[in-house]
Amino acid sequence: MKKIAVMTSGGDAPGMNAAVRAVVRSALHHGFEVYGVYYGYKGLVEGKIEKLSRGDVSRIINRGGTVLGSARYPEFLKEEVRQIAVDRLKAFGITGLVVIGGDGTYRGAQSLNEMGIKCIGLPGTIDNDISSTDYTIGFHTALQTVVDAIDRLRDTSMSHQRCSVVEVMGRNCGDLALYAGIAGGSEFIITPETGFDKQLTLDAIRDSHLRNKRHAIVVVTEHMLDVDELSKDIEEFTGYETRATVLGHIQRGGDPVAFDRVMATEMGEYAVELLKKDIGGRAIGLSGLNMIDYDIKEALTMKSDVSNKRYGLVGRLK
Ligand code: ADP
Repeated sequence: MKKIAVMTSGGDAPGMNAAVRAVVRSALHHGFEVYGVYYGYKGLVEGKIEKLSRGDVSRIINRGGTVLGSARYPEFLKEEVRQIAVDRLKAFGITGLVVIGGDGTYRGAQSLNEMGIKCIGLPGTIDNDISSTDYTIGFHTALQTVVDAIDRLRDTSMSHQRCSVVEVMGRNCGDLALYAGIAGGSEFIITPETGFDKQLTLDAIRDSHLRNKRHAIVVVTEHMLDVDELSKDIEEFTGYETRATVLGHIQRGGDPVAFDRVMATEMGEYAVELLKKDIGGRAIGLSGLNMIDYDIKEALTMKSDVSNKRYGLVGRLK
């Protein structure tokens, strides 16, 4: 009997549970034994591996976070530590592993794959920073959370004729800021892809003020700049009273939206199909309406062009 395992790793993302559920249920459907690895690569090395049944994944499709837990575990970069993980899996007779996480998680999966465990990567991160898929599991939920926050901030900004600077997550990827900025009707979006030109930003916001706009929203990807400093500069230069809001970790939690649940379910099922054919070392992605898979190595080096076409939209709608 084939034995496979599933785990979540790196930053948690809404929809990871839906993917875990799909892996477990489709593995059982094919007659496999399926195991859950708790707390990412750390738990794998420590042997936190348990057999899962259908019932173990009931009522989780609608829950945020990850019921398997997650961890950051830099020790996994050492080959001797990864060898312990390989031995743990072999002791259970597990030959295939589905890992759900971001690019760090993919790197771990690629190394494990080279050491003889057939690994399949599913993109689980709110940042949408995995180029081998149009969307990552969790992105659409986090996007809705950010848009809800912008809508609320707009109510106050409009009432008080203010500018609101909103910092959102994304690490090195501006998709969350870009999509939220468009959906929230923001005046200006600053992302790693656009870069930050302070004078251009100030001029654009002052133009809004001069056109008698009562409020302005600026959306910024984290790590680009100090939002408090930018707010001070905007206030001095444009005449808008300005406030900065860092949304922080509220963006990571929450019940997954339907899109994330459906995509995660399809990806989980696809992963099991690949393992059934004894295929490993692949990263699953969504391309348009289709599920596709790439060599994990290739997935880690691909460049994204999905959102580039959307940047023009922002300027044209101001
Ligand atoms: P994410 O998967 O969300 O990008 P991290 O970058 O923290 O999150 O990666 C998750 C975990 O993957 C790390 O804590 C580490 O255990 C493992 N990992 C990251 N990079 C590597 C690597 N180069 N080789 C092996 N394991 C890695």
